[in-house]
Amino acid sequence: EVKKNGKNGFQFYTTQLDSELYERIELEGYLRKALERDEMVLYYQPQIRTEDSRMIGVEALIRWNHPHKGILPPNVFIPLAEETGMIYAIGNWTLREACRQMKQWHEAGGPLIPVSVNLSSLQFHQANLLEQVQHALLETGLEAKYLELEITESMMMDASVSAEILNELTSLGVKISLDDFGTGYSSLSYLKHYPIHKLKIDRSFVTDITENRSDQAIVATIISMAQHLKMEVIAEGIETKGQLDILMQNDCKEIQGYYFSRPLPAQEVEHHFFVPLRLEDQS
Ligand code: C2E
Ligand code: MG
Ligand code: MG
Ligand code: MG
Repeated sequence: EVKKNGKNGFQFYTTQLDSELYERIELEGYLRKALERDEMVLYYQPQIRTEDSRMIGVEALIRWNHPHKGILPPNVFIPLAEETGMIYAIGNWTLREACRQMKQWHEAGGPLIPVSVNLSSLQFHQANLLEQVQHALLETGLEAKYLELEITESMMMDASVSAEILNELTSLGVKISLDDFGTGYSSLSYLKHYPIHKLKIDRSFVTDITENRSDQAIVATIISMAQHLKMEVIAEGIETKGQLDILMQNDCKEIQGYYFSRPLPAQEVEHHFFVPLRLEDQS
């Protein structure tokens, strides 16, 4: 909306637009070079078993180490990567890098845990997704059971297509998690037809869970439904002991959130979450 508040107001508005457009174009230029310049990094957020506070998995979360702006979170560049088609190359890199890191950890005597990788909707519907996943596993030697792919409810809108993709993926032995569960618009009926291994309760239901009765009811219901459907369930975005307590009272067995750990560079995961393995580490 352009209001005629005199010439200066209007000029300010267009200047603002110009600079936003300019920034976008500039960012796009840098993004095109980011992979070849090795600027993409995966951080890993530990997933914790509530029973004994052990790390039982990690989620790979992409960051872009921009040459001038420093570390950028995915919301700054993933939408742009999707609009420009760069998401295909970035997504494939992410798959391979997550598998490589996990295999390296396994070989170094780290915990035998899986890595979760987020798939963009475009990547999910890409014709050669299956081949890419297969290739990432073969190339790195990671066993399929240690790879989990995170999709969202919206990716299942086209029921027959997504059933086929999910069946192919799970026939490789990889697992499927439904991310941001409870925030989509899709029907629940897909839960009984599709090979989904895990529900990830969205952070929006956790944030106010200590005060909000509706959120408590929703979370309790998701957990109970997952148990009946023989699915695993993990809650996202736990930041406080109070939230953790309520989740544990509701029999939530796995959680992820700043309360235990932020997403960390690989080295910091090793440092904080791996039991000392070699003699020199114990001295
Ligand atoms: P997501 O998959 O739902 O990931 C969880 C997000 O919540 C992450 O943000 C994580 O850092 C953040 N988070 C975790 N615990 C807490 C907490 O206790 N409190 C709060 N406030 N936040 C918490 P991040 O890393 O910025 O990622 C945002 C989204 O970007 C992800 O949401 C995912 O949809 C997308 N994304 C991340 N990495 C990739 C990737 O490699 N490929 C694709 N296609 N998307 C990705
Ligand atoms: Mg995720
Ligand atoms: Mg999520
Ligand atoms: Mg998400």
